[in-house]
Amino acid sequence: MYNSFLIKYGEIGLKGDNRHIFEDALAKRIRTVLSRIDGEFDVKKTRGRIYVFCGGDWNYDETVERLSHVFGIVGICPVVIYESCGIEELKKHMTDYLKEEHPGCTSSFKVKARRVDKEYPLTSMEVDAELGEAILLANSDMRVDVHNPEIVFDVEIREEIYIYSKVIPGPGGMPVGTAGRAMLLLSGGIDSPVAGWMIAKRGVTVDAVYFHAPPYTSDRARQKVIDLAGIVARYTGPIRLHIVNFTDIQLYIYDQCPHEELTVIMRRYMMRIAEHFANEEGDMGLITGESIGQVASQTMHSLVCTNAVCSYPVYRPLIGFDKNDIVDIARKIGTYDTSILPYEDCCTIFVAKHPVTRPQVSKIEKSEQKLRERINELVDTAIATAELVVAK
Ligand code: ATP
Ligand code: MG
Repeated sequence: MYNSFLIKYGEIGLKGDNRHIFEDALAKRIRTVLSRIDGEFDVKKTRGRIYVFCGGDWNYDETVERLSHVFGIVGICPVVIYESCGIEELKKHMTDYLKEEHPGCTSSFKVKARRVDKEYPLTSMEVDAELGEAILLANSDMRVDVHNPEIVFDVEIREEIYIYSKVIPGPGGMPVGTAGRAMLLLSGGIDSPVAGWMIAKRGVTVDAVYFHAPPYTSDRARQKVIDLAGIVARYTGPIRLHIVNFTDIQLYIYDQCPHEELTVIMRRYMMRIAEHFANEEGDMGLITGESIGQVASQTMHSLVCTNAVCSYPVYRPLIGFDKNDIVDIARKIGTYDTSILPYEDCCTIFVAKHPVTRPQVSKIEKSEQKLRERINELVDTAIATAELVVAK
């Protein structure tokens, strides 16, 4: 029945003079995601609204699924478009629409007509009244409630007549590519994909870096991270994922430094290497999945130590979230099932029994002195041998 969609976008509307930049970015992103599926789609921006007109061999579910991954969209309204007609014919369209879309309905409703075509012989209020009456005649179980209706029948009278009454929620946020780039430290866990998704939702283009430790970590663990990047990429577009072999650095730290400081020192090297790739990519920040107190390496003391080696801002969107909240988002965005696959992570392999929970920067720096002989060379090698995978 449907042949188009009205795209609702909330926050973009607040952007004043820059509004068209955001609308253009949103329309462009919609075109991109729809170009990957069957059908002919015409994405049109008219007076503060974006419409998607669908033709050819298009599929409703697939189209909605794609649109529901586009940041910037708050609602997707499936629309039926009728040729312009007089009120009697319009009433018939309305009752057909009602039977098709809300069969056996017992809800309260109101009709909200908007007359864009000022030539139309009836006023908006007259159209409301006529169509409201037609609905009541067609279904006596429904009732009008103008203040708090369960269903609103929107009717837009343009060169053609648009009817819609359903809103499928979109992810919200800002269109990808409207807010610079940042480098996500992506592990195979639950948290970091969610962190990347949250920052991308604000319009940021996300690059990623993953540290693995072959042969201690397997190829399957590596593939899991590529898969996670692929799931996030459904929202963000292709993600450039740098895969860094961290084994020799980890072994060297393990040999030279106190074991209870291992995780903090490792984390500092991850940040340093992530910054290198961030520079290369033109990123303006790092993103991690840290949350205060979740594990020893995420106490406030540990965060001071990790942060001390970074010159870019480190964005930690999950910092105040409980694990449950993070799991809810992971489920919603589709990363959870992959994240919980039980493959080893480089951080858990060399982890100490009793890691420090209150490390001090000065003490950690002193321990790192023990690495001075070979660490630069090992870091350079890790950077030089990193592999780039574009996840999509
Ligand atoms: P996650 O679920 O994201 O793995 P976590 O609860 O396991 O997080 P940690 O292992 O302490 O927490 O890692 C904290 C953050 O450091 C991660 O969210 C991620 O951003 C980064 N990180 C940890 N391990 C790696 C890795 N192997 N490669 C890239 N980034 C990592
Ligand atoms: Mg982890």
